[in-house]
Amino acid sequence: MTVATSNKLNFDWSVIVVMAVLHAGALLAFLPANFSWAGVGLAIFLHWVTGGLGITLGWHRLVTHRSFQTPKWLEYFLVFCGTLSLQGGPIWWVGLHRHHHFYSDQNVDHHDSSKGFWWSHMGWMFYEVPADKEVPRFTKDIADDPVYRFLDNYFC
Ligand SMILES: [Zn+2]
Repeated sequence: MTVATSNKLNFDWSVIVVMAVLHAGALLAFLPANFSWAGVGLAIFLHWVTGGLGITLGWHRLVTHRSFQTPKWLEYFLVFCGTLSLQGGPIWWVGLHRHHHFYSDQNVDHHDSSKGFWWSHMGWMFYEVPADKEVPRFTKDIADDPVYRFLDNYFC
């Protein structure tokens, strides 16, 4: 099997701009006029809903690795929670994560840990990685599901 590889990657400017604007906007929460402990509590709760229930439980353990089973309505609810995390669409995310495990820490792994902590956790997201083209090969079980397709198209 041939996998596209490239040492010269192009920046993904849409990700760079969204990340910059989002984080600059988040800094506004530290202005005294905007700060409240209720807001901090709400942020922690929403972090748990989107990151804990959505990404960790839903997209990662349930859909990517099929570590457990749920009724379909609960799977869709958990996947929806993940879409609120601004980590891309669920089909794209699941495909890239399955690709990562398939080629773990090899050159084609888009977040190869041998390229350093920054690259493996954040840096790769700012580039157009060749693994994007491999997503359809790793998502045959969810790519035709209309709910996944809707969430992948409109919540990324
Ligand atoms: Zn995993």
